[in-house]
Parts: sequence; structure tokens; C-alpha cells
Amino acid sequence: MQVNSVELFRVSMPMKAAWRTAFSEMSAVDSVFVRLDLDGAVGWAEAAPYSAPNYCAEWADGAFDVLRDWLAPAVVGKRVPDGGAVQALLKPFKGNHFAKSALDIAWWDASARLDGKPLWQAIGGQSPTVSVGADISVQDDTESLISEVGRALDAGFSRVKLKFRPGMEAETIQALRQRFPEAAMHIDCNSGFTLDDLPLFRELDRCGLIMIEQPLAHDDLIDHASLQRELQTPLCLDESIVSLDKARKAIEIGAGRWINLKVGRVGGLTNAIAIHDLCQDRNIPCWVGGMLESAVGQGPSLALATLPNIKYPNDIFPSSRFYEQDVSEPAIDLSGPSVVTAPAGRGHGFAPDPERLHQCTTRHTRIAA
Ligand code: MG
Repeated sequence: MQVNSVELFRVSMPMKAAWRTAFSEMSAVDSVFVRLDLDGAVGWAEAAPYSAPNYCAEWADGAFDVLRDWLAPAVVGKRVPDGGAVQALLKPFKGNHFAKSALDIAWWDASARLDGKPLWQAIGGQSPTVSVGADISVQDDTESLISEVGRALDAGFSRVKLKFRPGMEAETIQALRQRFPEAAMHIDCNSGFTLDDLPLFRELDRCGLIMIEQPLAHDDLIDHASLQRELQTPLCLDESIVSLDKARKAIEIGAGRWINLKVGRVGGLTNAIAIHDLCQDRNIPCWVGGMLESAVGQGPSLALATLPNIKYPNDIFPSSRFYEQDVSEPAIDLSGPSVVTAPAGRGHGFAPDPERLHQCTTRHTRIAA
């Protein structure tokens, strides 16, 4: 199988409402779409590190540049029989996991299309039905947060994730727990805190949270291990897990008891599957996170979420949650309360609508053999 060409689209997709986390407030999702031609079959992927390097060190314009100048030229014209071959071609280049992931995922999509299989089956998924949760951004006050959580639970979501940032207090989470004593909830701190916040985490430890996601620095493992030793509540690592090697080290030092897998953050589906398999061997459950991507970006997450060691409702969202109209089609919809079903067609099952892609594209280029 040969990569004949790679086409890049740098896009900005306006959101319905601003999204607030510990690291930013944003009103659009900035991504790079990749269209890869593999023996005539087209695969699509989306790298969404956002517009500024504040979730991680990457950003959308940087991802476009490194794909155009280094990564795409390394794979175009090459024979790539499997995902490992894609990774081997990208290995000389350090970092840039989101950018690399787009080539890896587009290869998987095209390859599954050539094989005539849905991606979730091609990677060994068990069932196309995937459990999903609700994700709630930072709110102005506790009352707004309570009403948002109430809405999500009334809509049938089986768990709720709350963005939690410096300045917020444990009393807010305690108030939620009093109002919803049985709800499955966790908080995502997006690396906003340090070990100096141990008293806060001790209070949060009494709130019956399923997990506390990425409380400490984006590149830390050691302090997470220290914090985990002080808490009953499991920590979940997100930003810190950027590779199979980091996952192994995190597990070995006890830096957390859950891993949030994101295909972009770990450099592609090939690496995400390897981390999933390692975690399965070491009894560390995983779930799948997202970057508020269009359906093309969520497609590989949906496939990944069908693997057996995915043990918690995933951050895979109906298109209407964040967008008036998804740039990609078909739109993702719930197929039941708290459930999304992976498409039965070839590949991950999603592609951009050409007209909508054109409207939100700010830069474009094509690299051919
Ligand atoms: Mg997170």
C-alpha cells in the first residue's frame, strides 16, 4: 500500500457557546483536516490541538506547518503496510503528536476502507455500541452548575464530567454531591493545580468522585504519584500520557489509576491501541477523551472506545452539543440514552462536507508523490 498524496486543511469551526476550562476560554475549535490517498482509497483525519499552545505544546497553525514541511513529505510516496510503518516514518521527528496522529488516523481510515471493514472491527472492537457521558464547562456560579448537571442527568447521561479550575472551591462540588447523591461524577482539572493545593484535594477526596482527572502539570508523573498516595479517589491521567513509554512509567510509579486515551495526544490510533493493550495487561482501566472535534475527529475515538479495556463512559459527543452544524457528516447522534453507535460502513465512517469544509478553511495545501 502506497501513500499517493496528503492534502491539508487548516480550519476554524465556530462553536455554539464559549467553552471554559482551567487553561482557556474558546469560541471556535481550530483543527487541521488531513485527506490521505492510499492506493486510491481516501482516508480522513482531524488534528485538533486548538488555536493556542495551552492544552499542550501544539497549536493548529503549528500542526499545519509541521505536517506540510516535515511529516507529510516523510510518508508521501512511501509503502505503508500497517500503522507501525506510519509511526516508523514519523519517528525521526520529535513531539508533534497531534500532527502525527492525523497521518496515522487517515492511514487507518483509508486502510479499513480498502479492506471493506468498519474501523472499529479492523482494530478488534467488540461491539459498535459505546457508552458516552456529559461534559460541563466552567460555569459562572454553583446554581448554574447544578442546573447544567441536572439537565445532563435528566437527559439520561450515565456520568457527568465537570471542568474544574483554580479559584473554584470544593464546596461547589460538595453542593453538587448533596443535590445529586447518586450521580456518577468526576472533575477534570486540565493540569491547573500543584501539590500546594493538597488541602483542596483532601476536601475533594470526600466528594465521592469517580476520579480526579489531570490535577497537576501537563508533563508531570512524579507529583501525580505523590498526590495519589495521599488520596482515596483515583487519579486519571490525560495530558501527561503522550506515549506508550509515558504510560508504562506512569503505571510503574502509581501516578494514577485511570488513563484517558486521546488518539491525537498520543500520536495516533496505532499508539492509542498499544497503550490500551498495556493498560489491559496491567489492570489499569481506560476511557476515551476528545478535543471537541467534528465528526471526522470523533470517528477514530468512537472506534477506539469499542475496545475491551474501555471501562467508563467516553467523551464522545453528539454533533449538536457544540456545533450548529457539524463540518463533517454524518452528524453524530445519540442512539440511546448515553449511547453512541459506531457506523457500520467502511473506515471510521465520517468525512467533511466539501462546502462546509471550504467555508471554515483558512489555509490549504497538497503534497503529492
Ligand atoms: Mg482532560
